[in-house]
Amino acid sequence: MRHSDPEGLYRALGVSPAADPDEIKLAYRRLAKQTHPDTATGASEFQFHKIYNAYKILSDDEARARYDRRFTLEDAEHSWLGIHPVKCSRCAKVTAQPRALTFDRIFSILFFSFHRPTTGVFCTRCAQTESVRASFSTALFGWWAVPSAPFRTLRAIARNAMGGTRDREAEEDLLWQNSRAFAAQGNRKLSYALATKLTDASDPEIAEGARELVEDMEARGANPRKIKLKDPWRIKPLAAMTHLMLAAILPVGIGGVALQAMQSDEVVEARTRSVEVSVPAVNTVAAAIQGDYEPRKPTVRNCWKEPENGEVLYRINPRVAPGHEISIMNDTQQAAIVKVRSAFSKRLIAAVYMYPHASAALKGIPDGYYVVQYAFGSILSQGCVTFSDTTAAWQFPDTQNLRSIAEGDGPRQLQYSLMSAPSAGEAIDVAPVIFGQN
Ligand SMILES: [Zn+2]
Repeated sequence: MRHSDPEGLYRALGVSPAADPDEIKLAYRRLAKQTHPDTATGASEFQFHKIYNAYKILSDDEARARYDRRFTLEDAEHSWLGIHPVKCSRCAKVTAQPRALTFDRIFSILFFSFHRPTTGVFCTRCAQTESVRASFSTALFGWWAVPSAPFRTLRAIARNAMGGTRDREAEEDLLWQNSRAFAAQGNRKLSYALATKLTDASDPEIAEGARELVEDMEARGANPRKIKLKDPWRIKPLAAMTHLMLAAILPVGIGGVALQAMQSDEVVEARTRSVEVSVPAVNTVAAAIQGDYEPRKPTVRNCWKEPENGEVLYRINPRVAPGHEISIMNDTQQAAIVKVRSAFSKRLIAAVYMYPHASAALKGIPDGYYVVQYAFGSILSQGCVTFSDTTAAWQFPDTQNLRSIAEGDGPRQLQYSLMSAPSAGEAIDVAPVIFGQN
């Protein structure tokens, strides 16, 4: 299957790529009437231009043939110019082979065991650090509940030792983003190497795009035997040992103290010592549950407290006055995060938190092309711009062209309603990890 509609021109006119010229003309006339700013009220100028542009190309035999031909590398690189390489969510450095990972962290007290995972897009180094941190706090605070906490503690540490839980679908998205971004930057070797890993991706669109990129580059002389990526993610035995030792440290320590107590005459003193071991631990566990305890983190905020309805979680630049306004209605049962992103680079512009059955507004949005995404959840993850328990995220299908301030038309107001389970036409699926990115 070829990209028969790479820029969505046929889709814009609502016809199939096999449509004949008459069908195209009819579709254009009908849509133009519906969207032309002079004849239709409330129509979007952007919509009209999209339709007009599509018609201009598809009604010209030569232009249409050019469009229908294979998506060439130059076209592709040009259209990828706004795509940026993925950055590690912790150190914020560009990482060529990122992974979307979850590290398990267990806190337990008496009869309760809490799972507070860390989820993010990581470079190898930060993944290593984060996994050891998660195992370390689990080894300290995970054991202390009956009956299941010890089992959960060991399982969490074992998972961290194996490099965390991967979200493979999100990883494909991230690698494909990188492959295109590097192509656009002219780093074709890296782009090619990443694309070769994606030719059998589970997402058919990514697999198809990657195959075309690989074919194109090989036609230009890229040699698969010369361009190979090192795998920075191989599990290092020494690192896995660290986790094992962390898991063993408390049982061995306590066993040692107990053994000493049994063998020693100074039983009382030994008991005091063992109490000294556990008391501060329990205090810190309580603090951790309240959220006071957080290991040192240079780039992310701690967000244990639920934000207010309408609280802005993120804003890339100071608000623009007057600026455009995006108002949102959340008439669902769940708390939501709504994100405004740049339509092309997918960079986060602003994010707002919403209570169930509440409305909120993001004001002071500068001119630009935007898409709006949202997700539901109950636990904010580190960095406070996403949920750690979100299972699905969505994007409204329309790209919004907010250009009017510079043109003197004044700010615009857009309105959205969140849907708890949108259907295919109402929203596009977004991987939760992608939603979580800044
Ligand atoms: Zn990093």
